[in-house]
Amino acid sequence: MKIIDGKKIANDIKEEIAQEVAAIREAGGKIPHLAAIIVGHDGASETYVGHKEKACNQVGFNSTVFRFEDDVAEDTLLRRVHDLNEDPEIDGFIVQLPMPKHISEQKIIEAIDPKKDVDGFHPINLGRMVIGLPAYISATPAGIMELIKRYNIETLGKDVVVIGRSNIVGKPMSILLGQKANPGNATVTMCHSRTKNLKEVVLRADIVVAALGRAEFLTADMVKEGATVIDVGITRVKSDKTKSGWKLLGDVKFDEVAEKAEYITPVPGGVGPMTIVSLLQNTLKASKGEIYPK
Ligand code: NAP
Repeated sequence: MKIIDGKKIANDIKEEIAQEVAAIREAGGKIPHLAAIIVGHDGASETYVGHKEKACNQVGFNSTVFRFEDDVAEDTLLRRVHDLNEDPEIDGFIVQLPMPKHISEQKIIEAIDPKKDVDGFHPINLGRMVIGLPAYISATPAGIMELIKRYNIETLGKDVVVIGRSNIVGKPMSILLGQKANPGNATVTMCHSRTKNLKEVVLRADIVVAALGRAEFLTADMVKEGATVIDVGITRVKSDKTKSGWKLLGDVKFDEVAEKAEYITPVPGGVGPMTIVSLLQNTLKASKGEIYPK
């Protein structure tokens, strides 16, 4: 069994990005600038945005966070999105989800200029990805593809099972692994809460991507010997063994599944660190006009 060390790969990539930013700075070029919009004071959202700011500082990007209270009007947010779309200093920006109930997340996402949509949530980016055109790919699936690439995990002709069909993880993951590319060319089955005989389906998989958000759902009896297991899930549970009083669990019962898997990602330290790094990579691409020429 080999542990896929997302933290190490993420640090390697951050180092690569930092070197590129240093070269841009030396040449007097424009420093990449990522902005984030956050609404309210949700603990998890604050943590994610904090991590993103810290990552920007580590690689030498500029970053700006726009904070709004829970009762902000949708129009106010839309105006901010439009301003960021027009601001030549901002290369890319994200809107931290979830939004309060009175805000239409879809309306906000669709208001983002696809050229600055470094989270890859806009339908234009999703659509371009589906038909194989250059696009911003949402950070978590992009990070998983990078892990697969850097660990040389063979996907060609493999049976892949993705558990979960969300727009930000399960669906793009299924498409990316099934696309005519390397990594890709896998035979993909996408499962969800209505899938029948999930265990039998997962047992056939050479590669399992668990993205359902149910702590320790995937047990050893569901996994084929020698499979690669990618755990996307993050669930906070109370713990009397940590200082903070809580710990993070993945969707995979790590200890028992690790004994059967050839490769496995831990939680934390697997997919999570890659998500933030993918956002940095997308922002760098935006600043260089790599996806959409400037
Ligand atoms: P989501 O939008 O809640 O989607 C969950 C998916 O899992 C749905 O498609 C759902 O099916 C399916 N599902 C739920 N229970 C199931 C079951 N018992 N059997 C089979 N399928 C089931 O979640 P998400 O946004 O994709 O996130 C999934 C997990 O990944 C969460 O724990 C989240 O915190 C984590 N996450 C981690 C990162 C990271 O950076 N590591 C990034 C994003 C998300 P239906 O469609 O039928 O409801």
